[in-house]
Amino acid sequence: MSETLFIDGRWVSARQGGTRTIHCPADGSEVGVVAEATSADTEAAIAAARRAFDAGAWDVTAPERGDFLLRVAARLRERKDEFARAESLDTGKRFVESQIDMDDIASCFQYYGKVAGQEAGRVVDAGDPAVVSKVVSEPVGVCGMITPWNYPLLQVAWKVAPALAAGNAFVLKPAELTPHTAILLMDVLDELGLPAGVANLVLGAGAEAGAPLSSHPDVDLVSFTGGLVTGRKIAASAAETVKKVALELGGKNPNVIFADADFDAAVDNALNGAFVHSGQVCSAGARIVVEESIAERFTDELVRRARNIRLGGPFDESAESGPLISAEHRQKVTDYVKAGVEEGARVRCGGEWGTGELEQGYYYLPTVIDRVERGMSLVVDEAFGPVVTIETFGTEDEAVATANDTFYGLAGAVWTGDAGRAERVASRLRHGTIWINDFHPYLPQAEWGGMKQSGTGRELGLHGMAEYTETKHIYHNTAPAVTGWFSDEK
Ligand code: NAD
Repeated sequence: MSETLFIDGRWVSARQGGTRTIHCPADGSEVGVVAEATSADTEAAIAAARRAFDAGAWDVTAPERGDFLLRVAARLRERKDEFARAESLDTGKRFVESQIDMDDIASCFQYYGKVAGQEAGRVVDAGDPAVVSKVVSEPVGVCGMITPWNYPLLQVAWKVAPALAAGNAFVLKPAELTPHTAILLMDVLDELGLPAGVANLVLGAGAEAGAPLSSHPDVDLVSFTGGLVTGRKIAASAAETVKKVALELGGKNPNVIFADADFDAAVDNALNGAFVHSGQVCSAGARIVVEESIAERFTDELVRRARNIRLGGPFDESAESGPLISAEHRQKVTDYVKAGVEEGARVRCGGEWGTGELEQGYYYLPTVIDRVERGMSLVVDEAFGPVVTIETFGTEDEAVATANDTFYGLAGAVWTGDAGRAERVASRLRHGTIWINDFHPYLPQAEWGGMKQSGTGRELGLHGMAEYTETKHIYHNTAPAVTGWFSDEK
């Protein structure tokens, strides 16, 4: 038995007693045993959130909600290393990277702590001095949240912080492989006095523990971050009860490099874009689109640098990147590269599993692939691993057309020394975030999300909070009168 579900303010085990053992992907060692919920546990959590919301448990003033979030941010900073250690053990990611994630998570809570209550609604002119007409924002109600394993607590924070700032109750179902930091977060919310039932945590497989969050009539909104195929299922299931849906899905993100770019910076950032966290990043720069005149030199340099990347476990201080999340995921990446080679692509480096000491974990070597063409699976589908392809272009129009030739639209970058061209290309790229002469930075105060099949809605920034609100128009006639529309005479 493992009391790691947090339902109605209490730590409980799964009703049917199910458990799951979590292993570190860096070496297979056991990290912990957590409860494995069934849909009945999730339904109990939804009922608790519904009761808490309907009873007004979190109906405190917006400044009080803001103050609570600021205290969460402070507590997360105090417990940073404990959280970072748990994140690294679940994901295999470097401890220093997890520490950076924890700073970002605290900043997210801090941002929404400050934003809470800033939107006080607006009075609109009804054209009649006797009428007070105002538009106000209210919490959506009960929010279902489903998150992936790559940035486990960061993705949770992007949902929990704005949802609490706006006054909602929620049920969170984090990825089944990486539950520990979500458990720790619930501990912080509980410790700081969040009323029972406002925050609920269920753990377990998506199709079982997660499914009620998109189908249940008592859930008012489902916010999902994860893969495209799951996102489609969740949107379809949510349609039955016409609940609000926010989807943060995958990406196939182009990194466009013109010949006049700062060469060294462009190579270095292309390396970061593709291989940070072994490419298990929704915004990974997995498609390099480089001007023909520098393509060979650029690729040679990228290959040289990629071969030098040192892989290792979370606490190996010489390691620059870690393992993939699981044996299954590594096999998917392996099959994906193999299929690309069968279609005619050429592996310039990598394309293999780690050897020697790395054999105890799920390591895959940083992989650079050229001789690809638009339409090949390597260029179309998300690898979600350390795999980058090289495409080339001759003109600016070709660069834009290539970079937009994807059904995803999450993020992209343009590298050039020409400021006019940078702005032109940035405005023509159909992706939710565009970096100019950079790759990967994001800000809690700037919206994040995808165009096309990378999703609907936005996280972070003011729109990220608006997702968790309903808009209501209140029309107050202070001088009620008979309308005379229908005759009162027989
Ligand atoms: P996934 O879709 O397999 O799983 C994500 C979550 O959904 C998990 O918690 C899983 O248990 C749950 N789930 C699965 N089936 C479900 C169902 N039928 N009902 C309810 N929940 C269900 O994705 P993953 O492999 O964990 O994550 C990788 C994907 O996430 C990649 O495609 C990546 O691009 C994407 N991602 C996107 C962003 C973004 O901001 N756009 C951020 C991180 C990751």
